[in-house]
Amino acid sequence: MSHPKATRPYKYSLAERLYLPLLAGLWITLKHFLRNVFRRGRSYTIQYPEERRNYSHRFRGHHILTARPDGSLRCVACFLCATACPAECITIEAGEHPDVNIEKYPVVYDIDMLRCVFCGYCVDACPEEAIIMSNNYDMAYFSRDQSIATKEELSKPYTYDASKLGYRPRYPEEEAQRAAIREGVVDLVGEARKRHHGGSEAKAS
Ligand code: SF4
Ligand code: SF4
Repeated sequence: MSHPKATRPYKYSLAERLYLPLLAGLWITLKHFLRNVFRRGRSYTIQYPEERRNYSHRFRGHHILTARPDGSLRCVACFLCATACPAECITIEAGEHPDVNIEKYPVVYDIDMLRCVFCGYCVDACPEEAIIMSNNYDMAYFSRDQSIATKEELSKPYTYDASKLGYRPRYPEEEAQRAAIREGVVDLVGEARKRHHGGSEAKAS
């Protein structure tokens, strides 16, 4: 079978030329509208922003830069989050930290929220748990400039409310589950040592 060598223009059917598929789409919208108007008790509409849906504690919303107990940012400007970011929306400029125990800190830490795809890779990549996510999804901007979340905006104290936290590396309930698994697991090293010592004692006798 020979492959076509030239593009052929798409031939519209009569229904497509009369825009009938568009009417099918409009009918679905109208059906939902009528159902919501006449069956109000069964309406799934949420009166946002007064009413809010409870999202999972792993919801990936607006980012938060976490702080140390002294209030300084935990971020050490290692660029791992920016490197892992598939949308290339994290901009970091590193500076030398006055504390000799901490090599660097972010002079600039910006996230372009309009480019972010909320994948959470930055959270996964961070070795310091310096960046986590909240369940805040109130993000509306009038200009592109407003969509750049700066270091100050990312570390707003209100976002530290535990009920507003979203995707982050560890959760107490998961810690408890892991501890239970660790307790229940066979101590392979201990068992191997016992076997080794048991074998050497048997040889000596
Ligand atoms: S959530 Fe994903 S896209 Fe957004 S800043 Fe983090 S790594 Fe980049
Ligand atoms: S947020 Fe984490 S991964 Fe990103 S630069 Fe700071 S310490 Fe490194």
